[in-house]
Amino acid sequence: MLKVNNLNFGYGEVPILKSIEFQVPEGKHFSIIGRSGSGKSTILKAIFGNFDLKEGSIYWKDTQILGPAFNLVVGYPFMKYVAQEFDLMPYANVEETIGKFLSNFYPDKKKKRVDELMDLIELTPWAKTKVSRLSGGQKQRVYLAQSIANLPEIVLLDEPFSHIDNFKKQELRRRIFSYLKRNNVTCIVATHDKEDILGYTDEIMVIEEGETIQMDKAEKLFSNPKNGLVASFFGEYNLFYPHELDGSKESEVILYSHQLRIESEGKFEGEVLNSYYKGTSYLIELLFNKRSILIDHSIPLESGLKVKFNIG
Ligand code: ADP
Ligand code: MG
Repeated sequence: MLKVNNLNFGYGEVPILKSIEFQVPEGKHFSIIGRSGSGKSTILKAIFGNFDLKEGSIYWKDTQILGPAFNLVVGYPFMKYVAQEFDLMPYANVEETIGKFLSNFYPDKKKKRVDELMDLIELTPWAKTKVSRLSGGQKQRVYLAQSIANLPEIVLLDEPFSHIDNFKKQELRRRIFSYLKRNNVTCIVATHDKEDILGYTDEIMVIEEGETIQMDKAEKLFSNPKNGLVASFFGEYNLFYPHELDGSKESEVILYSHQLRIESEGKFEGEVLNSYYKGTSYLIELLFNKRSILIDHSIPLESGLKVKFNIG
């Protein structure tokens, strides 16, 4: 179990992390989602032991994670931090780079492991290619493989797929996350991209300015976002006010664009402003009560058209 207790931290006088608290059982995947500058990387670095904490504590099982004042070499052998920005030796080839931290004591075993990892990140044909000749995305894949070559007990992934283009991203995510899960590696992912977490993570924490806004199981958090910020990470959303609804609700209600339906027997009426093509559907922008409302729909609608819609 990873335990983060009352984590308060600032690089200088200004507090950056405020009372961050969460636990991750062994083998589970936990995600931190937040805007750029919200403190995601700082949390991961704190967990890794980069800082001497004045307040709060972090434990992995029975080991307290200590900062540089108590731990001469930052980090612990059971934990790996996969940084957002990374450097690889340009003149080493893919195979050498992936095997860099593997023991040379059993060459056959090492080769087998490197082959397995090259297969995982689908770079086997590039085994002998120098890292300097790879694309940014390929370099990130090599860096990922290198980081998990000696399987850590816990891995901290900081925007792990940020440099990888969409063509490879989807499959790579599936491969990496299921590989880590299969091997019972506890996984903490920092990201601003819902695609990195929905479908893979057990629990999500949303942070803003170093504070926890909401924390829950993935499905619960997605279907019950506490505010617009939380919803904004998962899709286009609308705010409805109590007087617009049945009156029984006391607070505003957040509804994603897929939770509204344009239909002839609709309770509400709006005027079409725009239709945006989204591939599998259209996003219709309606003028409703002097604001714009976004609704998924199967066909485009002409601007100016009056349409009815329902919730649910
Ligand atoms: P995120 O990863 O969510 O983008 P960071 O954890 O990198 O956010 O940064 C959180 C805040 O801490 C930002 O305001 C950033 O400017 C500040 N910050 C990050 N690293 C440092 C540092 N080494 N020194 C001072 N301030 C920093
Ligand atoms: Mg970051």
